Amino acid sequence: MGQMRAIVTCEYCGHRQEMARPIRKPESFHVVCHGCEGILLVEVTSADLRPARSGSGVSQPATV
Ligand SMILES: [Zn+2]
Repeated sequence: MGQMRAIVTCEYCGHRQEMARPIRKPESFHVVCHGCEGILLVEVTSADLRPARSGSGVSQPATV
């Protein structure tokens, strides 16, 4: 709990990388693409932080 997984797709080369970092509030940060070393700006909105409640305790796969 408390940790959000974000899938970041590089806008330059299309490389996808998964980041797991604690995100508790909307913020933006930079990520270096592992494919082309481009700088990607990642923006986390409050909507992204909306808890995914299934009601049954079963975790749902992250929406890409
Ligand atoms: Zn890239």
